[in-house]
Amino acid sequence: MKCNEFVGLIPHFVDDSLEQIHYEGFVKHARECSECKDELEIHYMVQVGLERIEEEAAKSFDIEGELHNRLQRYERIADKQFKRSVYMKIVLVLAHLSAIISVVQVVSVLL
Ligand SMILES: [Zn+2]
Repeated sequence: MKCNEFVGLIPHFVDDSLEQIHYEGFVKHARECSECKDELEIHYMVQVGLERIEEEAAKSFDIEGELHNRLQRYERIADKQFKRSVYMKIVLVLAHLSAIISVVQVVSVLL
């Protein structure tokens, strides 16, 4: 993911409307590019901070920690998606294999 793409997705990340397809690239870029990470932090703090001040002014809050948690959550979801796609491929291969095996069995019965 390029920096301008990342920056364009920040508002979606902040209001939690980021599409899952972007999770992996977004988290990866946030980890690798400190400039964009700073940009993300500023947006996130402004948005979440304002909401939080309105909602629960009395409570202490840890926005940086929350941002970190959110990035981790997205990373886990992206990871799960990846594992699922690998799993689906394995299932597909197994399905093909069992189809081939049953064809072989039929052929060997006929012979
Ligand atoms: Zn960047």
